[in-house]
Amino acid sequence: MSIPPSKSELPRRLDARKLAQREQQLSGTLPATGLERVAGVVESVAGDVRATLDFSRDLEGHFTVTGQLDGEVKLLCQRCLQPMPAPLECSFQWGIVWSEEQGKALPKELDPVIQDSDELDLYEALEDEILLNLPMVAYHDEECVASEHFRAGEEPAGEDEQRENPFKVLEQLKGSSGKS
Ligand SMILES: [Zn+2]
Repeated sequence: MSIPPSKSELPRRLDARKLAQREQQLSGTLPATGLERVAGVVESVAGDVRATLDFSRDLEGHFTVTGQLDGEVKLLCQRCLQPMPAPLECSFQWGIVWSEEQGKALPKELDPVIQDSDELDLYEALEDEILLNLPMVAYHDEECVASEHFRAGEEPAGEDEQRENPFKVLEQLKGSSGKS
């Protein structure tokens, strides 16, 4: 397979081990429509997320992916409850493994990502990464609500509580990866 130009969409599924063998690099976008779990915990996903991925093998033979993500989401300001942009930026280092057991044996600087078949669901793995790095709360820099409306002990209108708590998603993620 050839390396797509950086503006194109990343493949949803790929064989991370094969790309690591070939020391390939990929860069491209992750379409906002492919980020349903992220969309469920933020106000909105503001456009596509860009990613660069560097597949390689380290000195011990681990299959690794060094990557960066960069995009923007909209979160509700916890003071005025209006949407505000929040940058989404993270870098990560994955170790591609077959099983959870194998993941536990990885050096701690590698985050285990399980590819237990011919192909890895790249979008799912990247989405996990985004969820782990989402800013939890957001406030406008400026004084968006006059301070006299925001006295101590008084909650701003809290009709937003039925929204799924990002912490809960985080716990589920951590629980499912089997690492504490
Ligand atoms: Zn605000």
